[in-house]
Amino acid sequence: MMKDIATPVRTKNILEKYGFSFKKSLGQNFLIDTNILDRICDFAELDENMGAIEIGPGIGALTEQLAKRAKKVVAFEIDQRLLPILADTLSPYEHVKIIHSDVLKADVKNMMNEEFQGIEAMVVANLPYYVTTPILMKLLTEDLPIRGIVCMLQKEVADRIAAKPGTKEYGSLSIAIQYYTEAETVMIVPKTVFIPQPNVDSAVIRLMKRKEPAAKVEHEDFFFEVVRASFAQRRKTLMNNLMNNVPALKKDKVAVEAILAEIGIDPKRRGETLSIEEFARLSDSLYTIAH
Ligand code: SAM
Repeated sequence: MMKDIATPVRTKNILEKYGFSFKKSLGQNFLIDTNILDRICDFAELDENMGAIEIGPGIGALTEQLAKRAKKVVAFEIDQRLLPILADTLSPYEHVKIIHSDVLKADVKNMMNEEFQGIEAMVVANLPYYVTTPILMKLLTEDLPIRGIVCMLQKEVADRIAAKPGTKEYGSLSIAIQYYTEAETVMIVPKTVFIPQPNVDSAVIRLMKRKEPAAKVEHEDFFFEVVRASFAQRRKTLMNNLMNNVPALKKDKVAVEAILAEIGIDPKRRGETLSIEEFARLSDSLYTIAH
């Protein structure tokens, strides 16, 4: 029987057969450890009634493991050179579909309507690190009918995503992701399981979509503007950051102070101490002054 794609020997054979050279600019670090892939799949809790969406299948290391567990797998791959390789390595799996596309430009919702009617799906990926945040934000803001995302990413980004208020990692990325999901780092991954080895440490994070956002917010755009502004200069107080970085508040310092007093948030606090609920309360109250 053929070895799994993600074994060092088989990967080396595939790369040699096709004379494949890695493109650093596309974040190409392939997994060569089936134990890590098993664990990633376990965290995704896939079963034979579920669908899986993969971003960047590479030569099919993770895709193959997803195919062994899920009812259907759809993967987006940007690098045309990988298409003939994937057609070869994944030929035993008829329920796998590869779409040649930059996932950031793809109509994922439409794909899900066509390919996953009535099937629940998880996104599972070893992400290209140069576009981790745009990919996650796209998947979470497009209101896709996914259960969640389990993905490999830089450990430093995983730390920021899953950070709690009051820590130095907590910032606008933590809030942007935790607004939509329950975020948890589930595994730290050594560099040795990749070829070529990345320069940074890696981790696997699990993001389970919330039924409703973490806080009720009336004006989402303004909420995220207030959040970003509050972290613009981390050493400054909340009040200073709001006045310096939300243009619509600039003329109304007294009114901003009054609102903070009214909702019980000390203006001398730093943004990094506020919970998502507090940011929601803050932005909904400030909205009237700003608009
Ligand atoms: N899944 C494979 C594995 O684990 O061995 C490969 C993972 S590698 C870290 C990232 C993959 O994403 C590469 O195959 C790369 O070509 C692909 N990729 C990079 N940017 C992409 C994009 N914008 N859209 C879709 N795929 C992309």
